[in-house]
Amino acid sequence: MMMFCLFPDIYLNVPVISAAMDTVTESDLAIAIALEGGAGVIHRNLTPEIQANHVGKVKRFLNWIIDHPVTVSPGQAISDVMELIQEYNISGLPVVDEGKLVGIITGRDLRFCTDYSILVGDAMTKNPIVANEYPTPESAREKFYMHKIEKLPVVDSKGRLTGLITVKDMEKKLLSPGAAIDGKGRLIVGAAISPQDFRKRIPLLMENYVDFVVMDTAHGDSMSVIEAVRSIKKEYDIPVIGGNVATAEGTRRLIDAGADAVKIGVGPGSICTTRIVAGIGVAQLTAVMDCAEEADKLDIPVIADGGIKYSGDITKAIAAGASTVMIGNMLAGLKESPGKEIIFEGRIFKSYRGMGSIAAIKEGSGDRYQMSKNDAPVPEGIEGRVPYKGELKPFLYQLVTGLKKGMSYCGCSDIPAMRKYRKFGKISSAGLKESHAHDISITQEAPNYSHN
Ligand code: IMP
Repeated sequence: MMMFCLFPDIYLNVPVISAAMDTVTESDLAIAIALEGGAGVIHRNLTPEIQANHVGKVKRFLNWIIDHPVTVSPGQAISDVMELIQEYNISGLPVVDEGKLVGIITGRDLRFCTDYSILVGDAMTKNPIVANEYPTPESAREKFYMHKIEKLPVVDSKGRLTGLITVKDMEKKLLSPGAAIDGKGRLIVGAAISPQDFRKRIPLLMENYVDFVVMDTAHGDSMSVIEAVRSIKKEYDIPVIGGNVATAEGTRRLIDAGADAVKIGVGPGSICTTRIVAGIGVAQLTAVMDCAEEADKLDIPVIADGGIKYSGDITKAIAAGASTVMIGNMLAGLKESPGKEIIFEGRIFKSYRGMGSIAAIKEGSGDRYQMSKNDAPVPEGIEGRVPYKGELKPFLYQLVTGLKKGMSYCGCSDIPAMRKYRKFGKISSAGLKESHAHDISITQEAPNYSHN
């Protein structure tokens, strides 16, 4: 496992972040990628409430200790328990009297209960098996198996309920030993914000325990973005990724404003037309090298955003100085992405579009490109489709193993060592042709390579 720091206190096991795009990252993909050790950034073509809701879903998915479980008191009727079970879709509740745990009521206690006016105190299991504060996963697992129970209340030294562990959450946790998790065992997730909307979004995102926010703009080296980063660092206690920039100067300005990491990429995205429409951009490898050199002086990580076409591009981005890569296109075809499935000429595809495409602008993302909703759209992105790729887990395995192979060729055993590698040779277009499979018709597609 390659554990490394995204920011102080936030560790990923895989250096891949999914793009804040409305055909890439909502809660399903963010859960899938964090379970495999990476992280997702929930896009912002959603109301602040819905975006925060997606963050909440990710954070609740693996929380093996539920902080504020729903409880009942011994004086309530069983009918109340039935209502709560329905409303929250849960199967049992701790029974609490004046803050202290006095019992538990589960499906077993309710199975033979025909009179719903009976009091909880008469139907509950008294003196339930409990875990003491801060249990280890091993000690909790032992209790589940030894006592054949499905719910384990957590109590402090005075017998007050502080949490609840369910066997289901415990099993989910065991199935994903490489998950990217916070200090409380919850999956890591980020969310996109902009200079215009951060005050509306951040409080709701923080209520849902978001781990970091990402300044989601095409032009990060602008007054509005720099000022917004500065304000966020003053007003909220949350790590912020500034961006996007493509020069050392832009990187420096975002870091001076307080950015905890900087996202690099002006024009490399597969759906991006900025370099053609506006004539602006920097070739991504050059941009990552220049920006990483500047950010390294202050020990700030950079993220290479856009242009990843094969696993080998991740190797190159990291060898150029990036700590992580952000990917849109390669993840948009996955089962967990929100894009629509399209059948075309007998094959399955999923839709993928730039956040600066006409359709995405119409749904609200124009401010990423300095456009308001009423302006006639001048897109900097296109809409299209990518091949359907199935589930994230086996696909990400291919990407990460490709990266590991690259690291082994370079003799680097971890990401920090690989980041310092920075040795590249120029190749000609003939060299590039030679690099790809050539002079053969592919009859069996490999899971990590296709070329057109
Ligand atoms: P990809 O992985 O090469 O497809 O690049 C994804 C990245 O492209 C995103 O993370 C954004 O930084 C960027 N991006 C998203 N939408 C647009 C757009 O409409 N125009 C330009 N860049 C975009």
